[in-house]
Amino acid sequence: MSMSLVNAAYIIAALLFIMSLAGLSKHETAKAGCLYGIVGMAIALVATIFGPESNGTFWIILAMIIGGAIGIHRALKVEMTEMPELVAILHSFVGLAAVLVGFNSYGLHHAVAVPEHLDAAAQAAFVAEQNVLANIHNAEVFLGIFIGAVTFTGSVVAFGKLRGIINSKALMLPHRHKLNLAALVISALLMIAFMRNPDNIFPVLVMTAIALAFGWHLVASIGGADMPVVVSMLNSYSGWAAAAAGFMLNNSLLIVTGALVGSSGAILSYIMCKAMNRSFISVIAGGFGNDVQASSDLDYGEHRETTAEETAEMLKNASSVIITPGYGMAVAQAQYPVAEITQKLRERGVNVRFGIHPVAGRLPGHMNVLLAEAKVPYDVVLEMDEINDDFADTDVVLVIGANDTVNPAAMEDPSSPIAGMPVLEVWKAQNVIVFKRSMGVGYAGVQNPLFFKENTQMLLGDAKESVDSILKAL
Ligand code: NDP
Repeated sequence: MSMSLVNAAYIIAALLFIMSLAGLSKHETAKAGCLYGIVGMAIALVATIFGPESNGTFWIILAMIIGGAIGIHRALKVEMTEMPELVAILHSFVGLAAVLVGFNSYGLHHAVAVPEHLDAAAQAAFVAEQNVLANIHNAEVFLGIFIGAVTFTGSVVAFGKLRGIINSKALMLPHRHKLNLAALVISALLMIAFMRNPDNIFPVLVMTAIALAFGWHLVASIGGADMPVVVSMLNSYSGWAAAAAGFMLNNSLLIVTGALVGSSGAILSYIMCKAMNRSFISVIAGGFGNDVQASSDLDYGEHRETTAEETAEMLKNASSVIITPGYGMAVAQAQYPVAEITQKLRERGVNVRFGIHPVAGRLPGHMNVLLAEAKVPYDVVLEMDEINDDFADTDVVLVIGANDTVNPAAMEDPSSPIAGMPVLEVWKAQNVIVFKRSMGVGYAGVQNPLFFKENTQMLLGDAKESVDSILKAL
């Protein structure tokens, strides 16, 4: 395949990636968006593997078969609730790849011999140009390894926290902000040392160790409820790591793709920060606002319990119902019976709508995906801002497996770790039924005073079983 054909293929692939992102921004076009992405990636792979710069096609295909087999196996097995962990670990691979590409392309960089047929002036100009190119390449290698290493360990910690292997509480090392700053300053000094004497790889090795520790610390010091921002932030970092690898490999498509992922991840992080009323800087600097105590042991009084039959009776007599799903609905896989209840009630003339908090579940858009999977009509699925004013005029709210996202402490208790985060104001409705298995806390580890309000009743048990029983009673 000639280079011009490869370039043409790269342009088409890049356009398809942009169309893919545009498609993914709406429910209705999301499937087409996925398809554009798949076609774009297939074109990109074929052009790269069979392009003139590729040597060792056999090895690439062999590696792809092994990697692809592992990927397909994992993707088929993964539960929807494990998706964020999968995404986090995949980000770590991008980071690791950038580190390996960095070391590899450092090792492979050789000075080009000065052509002997040139006169002295032309030879001097040639050498000067080679020096500039070598400097640029060295800077790319250094920065690529730095970004890659931060992404790698950061994503591994995010994986651990999302899987529950690592404590989701923020790690509070003394002088943590100074430690972060020192890591950045020392890395900058090491870069200067490396650029002055690129034959010595020692500064790169030291920087790699620092960047690995920095990435680890950066994510470890971010607390439970801020994790959504971390996931989207690492998404962005993995994009920049890929772009850095693109520079090192001189591959324009990898640069474009990396930049697309990097900037869309950054925009998503910004949206998540706004949704949680956090400043981006304070989240990525980590640990800010986490010095407050979790109030799980505060005494809020007695709670009331109800049964599936009573809930069904209440729903029959209601004229407006809002369902606010959360992580527990995903765990229980309750979206299918929830969709059936919605249909049944709508047939009876009840106005049923869904209120989706931007960080409900464990993945941006998690609830939207589940509800779409269960074929709940898009027009009754509303964002938090669209529905928050309507709770006061609502007869019944069903809180299905949500906890932090409906916690009034976020608005009422300034000492709460989730203070300031906008929440679904479900307690303003006439009746609130909370579906969960116990009186335990949510992801952020704080008790929820909603459970003890006068208009709240707890329907304890697995959400799917409870919803199934309600469906039967209806
Ligand atoms: P939470 O994670 O706060 O709470 C989920 C609740 O579901 C738990 O209290 C649990 O209670 C209940 N539950 C679990 N399994 C079941 C089951 N089988 N049946 C019934 N209930 C069940 O949920 P939210 O969605 O409200 O909040 C999301 C949290 O996750 C936020 O703190 C957010 O910041 C964080 N997060 C979000 C990410 C995102 O991108 N959306 C990413 C990372 C973190 P019990 O054990 O008693 O049943």
